[in-house]
Amino acid sequence: MTIDTIFYTQLATIFSFLIALFSLYRLLVKQKDATIELLKEKNDFLSKQIEIAQNNTPDKLAKRLSERINIFQDELSRLSEDKEYTQKTISEKEEKLEQLENQLSEIKEIASEYFCPHCKSPIEKREYFSEVHEYGDIDHEFIEFECGFSMADDRVTGECKYKK
Ligand SMILES: [Zn+2]
Repeated sequence: MTIDTIFYTQLATIFSFLIALFSLYRLLVKQKDATIELLKEKNDFLSKQIEIAQNNTPDKLAKRLSERINIFQDELSRLSEDKEYTQKTISEKEEKLEQLENQLSEIKEIASEYFCPHCKSPIEKREYFSEVHEYGDIDHEFIEFECGFSMADDRVTGECKYKK
């Protein structure tokens, strides 16, 4: 296992955790209760995971993810301080939720290229190479995922073994 693979595996864990966390948050808006504490604990865990990922590979993606999580945490702590159940606060929360939804789809967009589009296996290898020509070099990109799915310049060169 290379450092990169470890990093992307961690990223996959973080990513699926984030989706779970988001579902919990959504539930929370409807029934606000003691689960807030649990969410906070899980958030701390998530922050630590991101920290580990950042230390392994100081990747831009991890940084952006961590920035999103900070926003998420702020939202959660604000929610936990709020004791009012008025229609106004509910609408406000719905707005916040919408913002979070947008953030999540942004994260999905950022992260999608690191996972197989069929089975979500993490990326195993990404290589760039140049083809030398007299009229100028042509750059190529090769991406391979753990499931065997691979692409060379957006052309499929290997099939995902979990693809139905
Ligand atoms: Zn796959």
